[in-house]
Amino acid sequence: YAAKELKGGAVVFQPEVHATTPVRLSVLGDLRRALDSDDELFLNYQPKVTLDGERIEGMEALLRWQHPVQGLIPPGDFILVAEGTGIILRLTERVLDLALAQQRRWMDGGTAVPVAVNLSTRCLLDASLPDLVQRLLAEHGVPAHLLRLEVTESAVMGDAARCMDVLQRLHDLGVHLSIDDFGTGYSSMAYLRRLPVDELKIDRSFVMGMTTTPQDLVLVRTAVDLGHNLGLTVVAEGVESVEHVATLRELGCDIAQGYHYGRPMAADRMTELLVRMGTIYAPEVPADR
Ligand code: C2E
Ligand code: MG
Ligand code: MG
Ligand code: MG
Repeated sequence: YAAKELKGGAVVFQPEVHATTPVRLSVLGDLRRALDSDDELFLNYQPKVTLDGERIEGMEALLRWQHPVQGLIPPGDFILVAEGTGIILRLTERVLDLALAQQRRWMDGGTAVPVAVNLSTRCLLDASLPDLVQRLLAEHGVPAHLLRLEVTESAVMGDAARCMDVLQRLHDLGVHLSIDDFGTGYSSMAYLRRLPVDELKIDRSFVMGMTTTPQDLVLVRTAVDLGHNLGLTVVAEGVESVEHVATLRELGCDIAQGYHYGRPMAADRMTELLVRMGTIYAPEVPADR
């Protein structure tokens, strides 16, 4: 497709396929149809595991699109296209709805842990997002602290003032917020400190490089320390090996997410994993909310 993400989070648009190429139009048309069906779009869930006790403390919901002709299309191939239009808002509403419905099932089964949903830049600029989140939480009967929202560094830096307002209102609802893909954007420390976030997720490109590239190791160590100094929980993404785990433990990182602990999986498989691994689940609402 037209948009291509480079290492470092930069996005280039190849001029000849920019605005209204047939392929882009067909993605949008197909996405609209997918939103009207109820089986093409679904979620996979990937566990987030504590590095000290190796228990599941949360999970991330990742969008999947089973296209009737093209088969499974990864989010990287359609999220950027959707972000260029209002369709990303409908897509996000669908993802929230699916994740909260599933969270309700897990709660009813007694094994619920927080579920994280990814938000696009575009959504952070939409002043109606906090109301949408509040309504969906109420509809599904899920307490706010069992939902996390992941936003990328670059998304927040783009239009800081407007994002800050939306983030603050989400935070006031009691939803937990994470900075996703940390290290690929340009946040200043001063700015990070003012964000109402609870968690920092170090981008997988650095985590995967840290056991072979000294600069990546420095970056991961710095990010862990920065996060801790700001009072944030630090998560490493892209944890694929026992070497990664050992290094992250040494660095004092709190939580790991990656193929080593589990690939994104269907909800049913996640249910089995929750039972098998044991979870950290605090059903009571935190005292300060
Ligand atoms: P992300 O939020 O950084 O999600 C993590 C991505 O890393 C996922 O790719 C996951 O499958 C992959 N991953 C996890 N562990 C490992 C590992 O150990 N090794 C490797 N190589 N990869 C790992 P996925 O599912 O393809 O999603 C890609 C991106 O698409 C996500 O990056 C997120 O930015 C976006 N995305 C996914 N679902 C949604 C959604 O519902 N809404 C929005 N706005 N964006 C979404
Ligand atoms: Mg994410
Ligand atoms: Mg991420
Ligand atoms: Mg990432």
